[in-house]
Amino acid sequence: MDSGAIVPEWGGRRAQEALRQVKAIGRRRRTPCVECDQPIDYSLVKPHPHACTVQHVKSRKRFPHLTWDPSNWAPCHASCNYSAGPDGDRLELGATSNDW
Ligand SMILES: [Zn+2]
Repeated sequence: MDSGAIVPEWGGRRAQEALRQVKAIGRRRRTPCVECDQPIDYSLVKPHPHACTVQHVKSRKRFPHLTWDPSNWAPCHASCNYSAGPDGDRLELGATSNDW
């Protein structure tokens, strides 16, 4: 909408890097889950439902250009991430597997 630039899809190695970054910062600051505000155990790894995942504070759907903006990332429980919103807003479950 606002540019001709193509924003790469969330996923793959870059998303893993993003997760690593979010976890590193979250662990240091003890950042709670952005959805439920409960603490996150940063030692957990997916497929654990309470593992840390990257949530986009502003949804990728509406703000695709913020997909790769670290200031738009927040730690979130995997389970909360998946249930964040059926309308796709704030929802990272673009679908399948390696989204997080
Ligand atoms: Zn949560």
